[in-house]
Amino acid sequence: MVSVLSPAEVKRPDGSSIEFANLDIAATAPCLDVVAEAVADLLPWYGSVHRGAGALARRSTLAYEQARETVFDHLGCGPHDTVVFTRNTTDALNLLAHAVPAGTTVVTFDAEHHANLLPWREPVRLGVPRSAAEAVATLAETLPTLTGPVLVAVTAASNVTGELWPIAELAEVAHRHGARIAVDAAQLAPHAAVDMTALDVDYLALSGHKLYAPFGAGVLAGRADWLDAAPPYLAGGGATAAVSADFTVRWHDGPARHEAGTPNLIGVVALATAFRALADVDMSEEHRLVARLRAGISALPHVEELRLFGPEAPRVGIVSFAVLGRDPDELNTVLGRDHAIGVRTGLFCAHPLTRRLLAEATARLDPAAEPPGAAIRASAGIGTTEEHIDRLLAVLAAHG
Ligand code: PMP
Repeated sequence: MVSVLSPAEVKRPDGSSIEFANLDIAATAPCLDVVAEAVADLLPWYGSVHRGAGALARRSTLAYEQARETVFDHLGCGPHDTVVFTRNTTDALNLLAHAVPAGTTVVTFDAEHHANLLPWREPVRLGVPRSAAEAVATLAETLPTLTGPVLVAVTAASNVTGELWPIAELAEVAHRHGARIAVDAAQLAPHAAVDMTALDVDYLALSGHKLYAPFGAGVLAGRADWLDAAPPYLAGGGATAAVSADFTVRWHDGPARHEAGTPNLIGVVALATAFRALADVDMSEEHRLVARLRAGISALPHVEELRLFGPEAPRVGIVSFAVLGRDPDELNTVLGRDHAIGVRTGLFCAHPLTRRLLAEATARLDPAAEPPGAAIRASAGIGTTEEHIDRLLAVLAAHG
């Protein structure tokens, strides 16, 4: 069974010690024990990638390319796909935005994380759907009105509500109308296996640090043609096949084209190790804990969860909520300082969406109340226990 590295206990202001309740795993996940071991095993062999013939360089290059194969296999990539290593999801989506052919219309929903909202040039925005079916229907209505190449860019799981988006259905609609689809899997990949061939998606972005591999690597996986046709994302060594005496450059095709500079060997080995380990993790305990948290929240008269699609929509281990009558930042401080609970407050890099969902959640509790300026988000994952959830619920109950 895999587990995560965590401090045994942390101190509270009264001098007592308590296990830290990390309920901020959606922001960045702790390191898996097997990931830390793989990194420690590699470090004595750490050397240059693609640039040398010594023992360290050979071993490091092999480890780097094996990591690429592991990611390719675990994401269910197909024969036309490639895996490019990036820094994180933001970097991966910016790379894709850079590679999209000129004249392509990008279609996205207003419910996206900023990483999938801001890199696109003048996208067609489809608003915030109120159900998975409405998302599919809106896309199906919009695509026939567009001409030229189209890329649909959508999240697989909301970082605000944790709700799952109907990726396979959206992909089917996109392809029926000759469009491609890119999926932000930053929040889905840590909680479920993602098979790009089964979902029939063209591009997928994710972050290693959300996948229990916090060593600075991310992934853009997907169809190689646009990536091979695009100018290199970064100009420099590693992306160049040859530079002539008059400085004319021939760039590599394939992933190297967009991976200029010394690559993050440790990060990608960590990421590949996490993929292998997570394939064996039973997520049912996480689902049980999230259900417990949601049931506890719904029993509190001053706390209301944020949601896009409705209470029954399937979701990953994320629950955001509005707390009425309390300053969210003060409550966050109390949770962290006095109760050793880590959560997140704010608008979660999805400002328009979170403001809107906060207003709706507040109105469900009390139509006359002013919505709080920020939501609180609790997120569960490997290492979360029932006691962590109950501790959070008890503090929320005491601050009503
Ligand atoms: N998309 C989603 C859904 C996210 O939750 C996040 C991280 N909060 C990102 C994209 C961006 O990820 P990163 O900060 O690792 O680039």
